[in-house]
Amino acid sequence: MQHLFTNRFEGVSEAPFESLNLGLHVNDTALHVTQNREILKAKLGVSQLVFMDQVHGDTITQIHSGDEMPTCDAMITDVSGIALAVMVADCIPILYYDERHHAIGVAHAGRVGTLLQVGQKCARAMAESFGTRMEELTIWMGPSIRSCCYEVGIEATQGLESFLHVKSGKYFLDLQNANLKAFLDMGIKRKNIMVSEVCTCCDSRYFSYRRDKITGRFAGVIAL
Ligand SMILES: [Zn+2]
Repeated sequence: MQHLFTNRFEGVSEAPFESLNLGLHVNDTALHVTQNREILKAKLGVSQLVFMDQVHGDTITQIHSGDEMPTCDAMITDVSGIALAVMVADCIPILYYDERHHAIGVAHAGRVGTLLQVGQKCARAMAESFGTRMEELTIWMGPSIRSCCYEVGIEATQGLESFLHVKSGKYFLDLQNANLKAFLDMGIKRKNIMVSEVCTCCDSRYFSYRRDKITGRFAGVIAL
């Protein structure tokens, strides 16, 4: 198993997508994005690298061949040599690994995905498809916007009241802890959940939609 979170370096895209933009939907030159995806594929040494057409939903797709181009926000597989990628620029890229059953997953959890429980549903899909036990599942949550920067309107706090920080009358959400608590409640062990401390809005090594609006996408990637 290998996994990584990309940053914005060592790609071929030009500003404002410089340089390792992996998103085809952000109006970057498609040829550059394709080249960037090939750079990542070569680095991983995999035969297939699967991206999702992400829609802030809770659909999960099981990948069998690596030729799939799914519209969804989570994927799972037990096939070796296929890398699964989740693109983000502030949302949480979540990676899953079940060593015993030789299975992996990825999920895209922003505010809406968190409310839809896409992270938990991906773990449950691994249990249903591969027999994954929650107490044996390892999870990585990658760089994403944190409560230092994630200011939202009051209407966007509904359902996330427990993960809300109020500073000077402004509302800030902590989606990392919302997902962490949800995973712990499912029986996933704290020692098996790694949470990046990087805030994408604070750290210019990563693309941030909140900071830059017109920008690229980096990715969380995992492969068996
Ligand atoms: Zn921040």
